[in-house]
Amino acid sequence: MIWDTLIIGAGPAGLSAALFTRMRRMSTLLLDTAVAGGQLASLYPKKPVHDYPSYTYVMGEDLGKNFVDQANHMGAEIHEREHVTMIRRDDDQNLIRVTSTKEEYEARTVIVATGGGAARSSRRCRSRTSPT
Ligand SMILES: Cc1cc2nc3c(=O)[nH]c(=O)nc-3n(C[C@H](O)[C@H](O)[C@H](O)COP(=O)(O)OP(=O)(O)OC[C@H]3O[C@@H](n4cnc5c(N)ncnc54)[C@H](O)[C@@H]3O)c2cc1C
Repeated sequence: MIWDTLIIGAGPAGLSAALFTRMRRMSTLLLDTAVAGGQLASLYPKKPVHDYPSYTYVMGEDLGKNFVDQANHMGAEIHEREHVTMIRRDDDQNLIRVTSTKEEYEARTVIVATGGGAARSSRRCRSRTSPT
C-alpha cells in the first residue's frame, strides 16, 4: 500500500495533522517510537494543562487520549512502539520510503512531527490545579 500521508510522531502535532489529512480523506499512518499522545502521555500524564482552549484545565493523559481517540475516529492508523530509522526519496517511483524498526513503508508525503525530543524535564513536575 502507498500511504497518502505517513506521519512520524503521534504527539499533539502529528495527531492534529492526521485529523486534517483524514478530513481530506487521505490515507494516513502514524508511527510512534513510544505511545500515541506524545509528551502528554509519556512525560506528564498526571499534570493539569491550563492553556488548552475550551478546558479550564485538563489532565495530560486525558488530553492525550482525546487527541488519539479523535484521530482513530477519523480513520487514521496508529502504530505505537515503532521507531523510524530512515526516510528516503525514491525519485523513480515518485514516492518516499520510510523505514522503521518493524517495516518499510511507501508514502506520497511524509510529515515529521517528532517534537523536541523525549528527554525528561529536569524540573520536577508538580501537580497543581491552579495556573499560578
Ligand atoms: C513536563 C512538561 C509539561 C508541559 N506542560 C505543558 C502545558 O501545560 N501546556 C503546553 O501547551 N505545553 C506543555 N508542554 C509542552 C508540550 O508537551 C509540547 O509542546 C508538545 O507535546 C509538543 O507536541 P509535539 O507533537 O510537537 O511533540 P511530542 O509531544 O514530543 O511528540 C513527538 C512524538 O514523536 C515520537 N518520535 C520521536 N522520534 C521518533 C521517531 N524517530 N520515530 C517515531 N516516533 C518518533 C515521540 O515518541 C513522541 O511521541 C509540557 C512539556 C513537558 C515536558
